[in-house]
Amino acid sequence: MTNPLLSHWDTPFALAPFDKISDEDFAPAFAEALETHKAEIAAIADNAAAPTFANTIEAMEAAGSGLDKVLSVFFSVAGADSTPAREALQREFSPKLAAHGAEISANKALFGRIKAVWDARETLELSEEQQRVLMLTHRGFVRGGAALEGADDIRMKEIKSRLAVLGTDFTQNLLADERDWYMTLTEDDLEGLPGFVVDAARAAGEEKDAGGPVVTLSRSLIVPFLQFSPRRDLREKAFAAWAARGANGGETDNREIAAEILSLRQERAALLGYGSFADYKLETEMAKAPGAVRDLLMAVWEPAKARAEADAAVLTEMMHADGVNGDLAPWDWRYYAEKRRKAEHDLDEAALKPYLQLDRMIEASFACATRLFGLAFKPLDVPLYHPDCRAWEVTRNGAHVAVFIGDYFARGGKRSGAWCSAMRGQAKFPEVQAPVVINVCNFAKGDPALLSYDDARTLFHEFGHALHQMLSNVTYESISGTSVARDFVELPSQLYEHWLEVPEVLAEYATHAETGAPMPEEMLNKVLGAANFDQGFATVEYVASALVDLAFHEGAAPGDPMARQAEVLADLGMPAAITMRHATPHFAHVFAGDGYSSGYYSYMWSEVMDADAFEAFEEAGGAFDADTAKALETHILSAGGSVEADELYKRFRGRLPDVEALLKGRGLAA
Ligand SMILES: [Zn+2]
Repeated sequence: MTNPLLSHWDTPFALAPFDKISDEDFAPAFAEALETHKAEIAAIADNAAAPTFANTIEAMEAAGSGLDKVLSVFFSVAGADSTPAREALQREFSPKLAAHGAEISANKALFGRIKAVWDARETLELSEEQQRVLMLTHRGFVRGGAALEGADDIRMKEIKSRLAVLGTDFTQNLLADERDWYMTLTEDDLEGLPGFVVDAARAAGEEKDAGGPVVTLSRSLIVPFLQFSPRRDLREKAFAAWAARGANGGETDNREIAAEILSLRQERAALLGYGSFADYKLETEMAKAPGAVRDLLMAVWEPAKARAEADAAVLTEMMHADGVNGDLAPWDWRYYAEKRRKAEHDLDEAALKPYLQLDRMIEASFACATRLFGLAFKPLDVPLYHPDCRAWEVTRNGAHVAVFIGDYFARGGKRSGAWCSAMRGQAKFPEVQAPVVINVCNFAKGDPALLSYDDARTLFHEFGHALHQMLSNVTYESISGTSVARDFVELPSQLYEHWLEVPEVLAEYATHAETGAPMPEEMLNKVLGAANFDQGFATVEYVASALVDLAFHEGAAPGDPMARQAEVLADLGMPAAITMRHATPHFAHVFAGDGYSSGYYSYMWSEVMDADAFEAFEEAGGAFDADTAKALETHILSAGGSVEADELYKRFRGRLPDVEALLKGRGLAA
């Protein structure tokens, strides 16, 4: 019998036949599909015919479709419905895939052909999209080091493998520090803590076999402890340990590792001909250069700092009224901010929840897409990988657009968080391929299932990513849907969250599970007000980290990163009661791998854009303005990575994004 993963999928919309696939099918299908892709790549690289766009670039686009099929199914179940057997398969597949990717990017014959097509690009009469795919393919190989020869080539390989080792060491040291430290609490020490923190402290104590409740360095425990514990001495002790992660001396100290990583990155950028690692990293982003990132961060920094200083004065007064003299310290901020939040914005989560029914919120997210883009959603009865999964056929004017799958409930075997992925990306080459898109969340089950406000926002966020995939309308899959710059990819998702806050949407869909009554306006205002609370603090701790990240990767690598960090913070005039969200020795975004190195800014970059983009609707007359929706689809949601991100944004908005809308949204505007 043929392996169902590799056979033709003669199913509705060519969906994977989940009811026929078993775990035993993965390993043989993976092995066969990997070999096929290797053979396809070898055939392209060794082709005797002169290199052309069709026999090189398009051939690479078409190659690997079998591997894509196998992996789309495998990674869906490995992420959302894992088992020890699937984890073992993932441990087996991951290094093989990494080696396969490295082998392709180091294939000199293949690169020679790509380069030949690239060099001849002016004479080839390529479409705009073809030129773009050619540029991206060529640039990807060059950035990976394919054009290097001799000693430089060897050195690049050494740097890459050393960086991989250092990134792993950094992560493991951090984990070791986080695992080893805990602070035991007596029953008296628990006073003032809410039930969920007490429960978490007891559970952590059991896990550590500590004979009683403990505070650990896990963010989900230490942050609420700092927020709620009235014991200043314990807060100080816990905070000190949290701040010292990765900088405790001895075997697990990350400071020298950070210095070596920065120096190797600088050398890598220099080998490739860039002035700095930040120049290298930002070349492929919407920001393009360090100056643009710095301008954006500094435009936010001053108003955020002013707000944080004003807030610090209020909190200091509260502390003095509490009988504690002296200055507000970093271990005091969260505690007094929580007291203030309760006084100013107390929101009863228990009373809010019945208004946010999962099914009604799904309806709301669909209804907004119907009004904005004319999409219709019809439930589909097809076999999927878990009985919790639901599917819909998405159509427009009766024509098929996509299949959308929602896998909403938390369960053992699903990794935490929420995500969107395309089980099949949109493409028209080598044949028309309609997208199959999945949103995976971790909501609590219930009858009916009820969401927190954050959950509802997550639902809209992931559905925004799904729209980016489903409305994609390009030829080549490598640039379709969410295949865009990292600092652009969160625009559609964060933008879509704004429709949840549109009063008429909540009025219609946020109805009480028992009475059917709409959410009272006073409650809605509290929800929206609470979202802006303490944004001076949040913005300062974030922007300081982003500016240190940027400073590390501009110019010569700092021999002593801790000294450089101190210098940057001193120049900024960092408020004394706030620390960086992630200080260097535990800044995993920057040092665990290079994904977010000189890229930590991108969260805020996207937020500036989503605030500015939503304002385009408001300026045009409202959240459902038809012309603005059309422009959003034409220039952003359908375009994938077919055009530079800044150009796409300009086509949509008529100009580049402006920070004013973000400052207003975070309550930081003057
Ligand atoms: Zn996202």
